[in-house]
Amino acid sequence: MFENDDDDFPLKCPNCLHEFYEKVGRIKAGIDTRCPDCGTVITHPAGEFQRLLENRNNEIRDYLRRFMRLTFR
Ligand SMILES: [Zn+2]
Repeated sequence: MFENDDDDFPLKCPNCLHEFYEKVGRIKAGIDTRCPDCGTVITHPAGEFQRLLENRNNEIRDYLRRFMRLTFR
């Protein structure tokens, strides 16, 4: 999930707290998102989303490693 550019990523407007979805591809490309409710512009600094994905994948790997140890003890 969130690896494909067509996936929807949940965002929350920092201004009006409206929750909506943005395409992962647009976030990766650093294209600003405009809140459909109040028009606040949410910026996506280049590379930040990629870092988030990598951190998440590392966390999943760590989790699986722990799980494997428990399983095969
Ligand atoms: Zn808003």
